[in-house]
Amino acid sequence: MQSSQTTFLVLGGGVAAMNAAQSIRGADPDGRVVMVTNESFLPYYRPMLTKQLAKGAEPAKFLVHDESWYADKKIEVVLGSEAVSLDTSAKSVTLSDKSQWSYSKCVLAVGAECFLPPLPGISKPGVYALRKIDDFQRLRAVMEGAKTAIVVGGGALGLEAADALCAAGISVTVFENGGRLMPRQLDGDASELLSQKLESSGIHVRYEAASEEVVGDPKAEGIKLKSGETLLADLILFSTGAAANVNLAKSAGLAVERGIVVNEYLETDAADVYACGDCAQYHGVSYKLMSEAAAMGKLAGSNAAGGKGVYEFPAPPLYFSGAGTSLFAVGANGTAQGKTYEVDKTGAADGSYRALYYEDGALAGAILLGDTKASGKLEKAVQGHWSRAEVEAALR
Ligand SMILES: Cc1cc2nc3c(=O)[nH]c(=O)nc-3n(C[C@H](O)[C@H](O)[C@H](O)COP(=O)(O)OP(=O)(O)OC[C@H]3O[C@@H](n4cnc5c(N)ncnc54)[C@H](O)[C@@H]3O)c2cc1C
Repeated sequence: MQSSQTTFLVLGGGVAAMNAAQSIRGADPDGRVVMVTNESFLPYYRPMLTKQLAKGAEPAKFLVHDESWYADKKIEVVLGSEAVSLDTSAKSVTLSDKSQWSYSKCVLAVGAECFLPPLPGISKPGVYALRKIDDFQRLRAVMEGAKTAIVVGGGALGLEAADALCAAGISVTVFENGGRLMPRQLDGDASELLSQKLESSGIHVRYEAASEEVVGDPKAEGIKLKSGETLLADLILFSTGAAANVNLAKSAGLAVERGIVVNEYLETDAADVYACGDCAQYHGVSYKLMSEAAAMGKLAGSNAAGGKGVYEFPAPPLYFSGAGTSLFAVGANGTAQGKTYEVDKTGAADGSYRALYYEDGALAGAILLGDTKASGKLEKAVQGHWSRAEVEAALR
């Protein structure tokens, strides 16, 4: 435990920051805990942004905790203020309002932003992305009058958004660069089946549809594809991945690759500075998922408060629900180079699909489409490297 003079500065206001602040307070009842976020909302469940896009709940409903929770825990929250520089020698942070804050321990939990590909026309008004409540509100407003939409990106978030737009009565076309939906998680058969489900719910998927330019003047009106074809739409949403917020750390001289590099204790290479959640990269990887952000936040907070816990995080599963179906995928999908898998595939007449990928006799990955009841068992089985006999017994 730190002394009562300790000041913990947690930069960011997402799930990682909230968990870090909570776990600092749990380990140190007396230290000053300050959380700084450039958003004007307390930490909220970001997945609600796609899940509530069609229904449009009030953003206040997305909050993880209300103000009283922070007050009870003596966590000071500075809203609407951006950390603009970090001086690791002086151990201080400057905010956008020019105020300076000294810290004993600093936790970087600044998350990520939507990655927009550098296409001509990408910054035109009328190009949307969905990461924050402000984006959600802008999108909800434009959805009101829209009849057609293009969603660029056939990953899980793009498809969730496409499903929500479709549920709101908008005719949606998804542009996927490659030949498969959710290419990191699905095999070709599962992608094909999901594609059929999407088509039958009214979402049209275009494969090998690489965007070349956002057309329209002055406002975005459509996308020109590399094939030369142009498709117009009332609403254009890019869902082409997330890029970690690394600039603050980079200008402070911290080691940064695609994320802020951390060791197993979630320490950066600057003394007393930790990083967690979507902005952090451990062992070259950042899954950019809620469960990872929460787990990292907890550990970064407790280590900042004097602990020495080691970060361990299993490959997280994907859950998707939309187009009248459910999908679960974990681990290998048969595409890793240089690896050989044995695969058991079953498909039911109702359109359900199951693929189990074994590597050296142990379950390395699983995909379920339609009937996902066995997801919990299969997640355990992949993490526990269960043998084929153990998996079959569990599924019987
Ligand atoms: C639309 C959407 C749906 C998703 N759905 C799922 C899902 O279903 N399941 C799942 O596991 N994951 C989902 N995710 C991913 C998940 O939301 C993220 O992994 C998680 O929110 C990361 O938490 P974080 O706290 O690390 O970062 P963030 O949530 O990005 O929070 C970082 C916060 O810090 C603020 N900030 C940034 N820079 C500064 C600065 N310099 N100073 C002050 N504040 C700053 C940001 O504005 C933000 O509020 C979804 C993401 C999105 C965008």
